Amino acid sequence: MAHDQSEYLRKTAGFLVAEIDRLITGPVRLMEVCGTHTVAIFKSGIRQLLPPQVELLSGPGCPVCVTANDYLDSAIACSRSEDVIITTFGDMLRVPGSSSSLGARKADGADIQIVYSPLESLDIAAANPAKKVVFLAVGFETTAPTTAATVLAAEQAGLDNFYVLSAHKLVPPALRALLAAGDVEVDGFLLPGHVSAVIGEAPYRFIADEYHLPAVIAGFEPLDILQAVYMLAKQINSGDALIENQYSRVVKLEGNPTARQILAQVYRETDASWRGLGSIAGSGLAINDKYRRYDALANLSVEVEETREYPGCRCGEVLRGLIKPADCPLFATACVPEEPLGSCMVSLEGTCAAWYKYGDGRWQG
Ligand code: SF4
Repeated sequence: MAHDQSEYLRKTAGFLVAEIDRLITGPVRLMEVCGTHTVAIFKSGIRQLLPPQVELLSGPGCPVCVTANDYLDSAIACSRSEDVIITTFGDMLRVPGSSSSLGARKADGADIQIVYSPLESLDIAAANPAKKVVFLAVGFETTAPTTAATVLAAEQAGLDNFYVLSAHKLVPPALRALLAAGDVEVDGFLLPGHVSAVIGEAPYRFIADEYHLPAVIAGFEPLDILQAVYMLAKQINSGDALIENQYSRVVKLEGNPTARQILAQVYRETDASWRGLGSIAGSGLAINDKYRRYDALANLSVEVEETREYPGCRCGEVLRGLIKPADCPLFATACVPEEPLGSCMVSLEGTCAAWYKYGDGRWQG
């Protein structure tokens, strides 16, 4: 039975690759926007499987990677207050800020606690009424609803010492900024399945309508990704530009109205700073006026000194698909996952980390 299934998968993959080869007759560049796709593509060997005329680029889809230094510097500044407990996902500890990192601050004695869900922050706040608990809210439309639910739970619990430092970001405005900048040549997009499960298809329509590019929402299994590339190949071959949904078993046309409702209840759209893309209008989520008492920036004193990037780190160009990680002189020499110099080497979903872990090893002596 297991043999039959793997034979079926092998034959289906072979069919899709042969069709992609037939349909795409010249060089094309397809951007996978989501960090989970980047890792899935590397792990399953899809890059090696695809015909040579198809090049896959990684885009700005890893939330830790696109979080700009000014946010990290604000979080580090918060951690300097004696009465503050920072709660955060573990990846954030290793991201270098301008002159320090949260990991270094923790080693110096700052109270920084790793959580696996923002809701754990409420337990910490309840157990430490004399402290201010600040949750570092990083992520796209996928994780923002959970942070919003945590704010509502804090209100329900009557907690007055819980705050959110929001760096939540929205994917479609970043794609618009990427296309408007005009410096990356891309012939189609593999769109993120998880984000799309929340926002649906409509927010991506400008890609087809204004830029005449095809885009396909894709799942995360190897055959999902190959099928999505095949769907892009069909569009490219016929000159179409449509937003299609390969991941329809999860992503509905209208997305998840309940998740979107909670986003609208707690946040307002705001300009946000993206690593590599700069400030993008309407691309961030800030706590709205109704829930202002939970907004760390509005309620705590956050003094940031000078913000700067690590000299020589080229994360910005990696995130825009302008260069490959191995084109950065620091890649796999000074910058490795154990000692990352830039955010793209930190998270498992970071482009540089994925290349280092699963790449073809051509940088290795
Ligand atoms: Fe930045 Fe390191 Fe990637 Fe170079 S290899 S772009 S320094 S994260």
